[in-house]
Amino acid sequence: MPAIATLGSHCALQVLKGAKDEGLKTILVCEKKREKLYRRFPFIDELILVDSFKEILEKKCQSTLEQNDTVLIPHGTLIAQMNSEEIESIKTPVFGNKWILRWESDRVMKEKLMKEANLPMPTSVLEPKDINKLVIVKRQGAAGGKGYFLVANEDDYNTKRNQLISEGVISKDETLYIQEYAAGVLAYLQYFYSPLKEELEFFGVDQRHESDIEGLARIPSEQQLKSNKVPSFNVIGNSPLVLRESLLEEVYNMGENFVDAAKKLVAPGMNGPFCIEGVYDENAKFTSFEFSARIVAGTNIYMDGSPYYSLLFNESMSMGRRIAREIKIATESNQLDRITT
Ligand code: AMP
Repeated sequence: MPAIATLGSHCALQVLKGAKDEGLKTILVCEKKREKLYRRFPFIDELILVDSFKEILEKKCQSTLEQNDTVLIPHGTLIAQMNSEEIESIKTPVFGNKWILRWESDRVMKEKLMKEANLPMPTSVLEPKDINKLVIVKRQGAAGGKGYFLVANEDDYNTKRNQLISEGVISKDETLYIQEYAAGVLAYLQYFYSPLKEELEFFGVDQRHESDIEGLARIPSEQQLKSNKVPSFNVIGNSPLVLRESLLEEVYNMGENFVDAAKKLVAPGMNGPFCIEGVYDENAKFTSFEFSARIVAGTNIYMDGSPYYSLLFNESMSMGRRIAREIKIATESNQLDRITT
């Protein structure tokens, strides 16, 4: 059986605990500064200590992974800390589809895939001069909402952008992406697609808690207006949500459309965990502003199994464990190459 490895951050604990529960060897690529934290967890069999996660591309690290027949589980930290070329050059087999991670990081490609999947999206605005309603300005990649800002016109855009540049939050030559602000109840829909079973599973829903935007919502508007800080959408944590059951049919449809679109645009498709992120408006109409083409940290709230997976499995099944289960089944049936890239 292969060993399971991941980077020490994001959802590493859940991924490795799930792998251990499935009887697989676990390896953590761990920054030296976090060694003490991760040593607390007995289900981590081996730590590869690094100064930076990029060392995963170096021979030394790769040969340890190779000796253990490792499958690497990608998550948000991999995308945040490495560019697409680096990720694609990883020699260790990556669970899911490493080629689709480029489509997650690049806003133009992302929009193309979401359109192909027929996901209802907020309109994007190409030039700051065209801003004529409330928009959110976003960075590329998996920035986790840090440095995002809200504006309603070009002047506002320039002022806030300049402020964030001078504060060192964003850089001057960074290409920003502008999208209409969609108001409603946040819902991050978490799925798993198994190419072995050719079946889509709906795992759960989470909401993100983001600072400082949430903190601002707790004080009167008078005080909000006095703050001269540009509020960010930096994710601090997640909490669970269950949907009205009448919404589930559309949730499955969106997931299936996404899987179909990915199959068309980026071989071998959307295998493994993914997430469609958006809001439900007052008519329960969903607008999606993002997707993640790998496990999301919001699945950490269901380390002991999610409400929807308790309908599918008669055992505690986290997303980390579901991944390990897929790897086990694929290995036993000699199909590992169908679920890794
Ligand atoms: P993202 O990196 O796109 O997931 O965005 C980070 C956070 O910004 C999300 O969790 C939302 O709170 C917020 N956000 C992003 N895009 C939009 C949008 N178009 N409308 C409303 N909120 C958004």
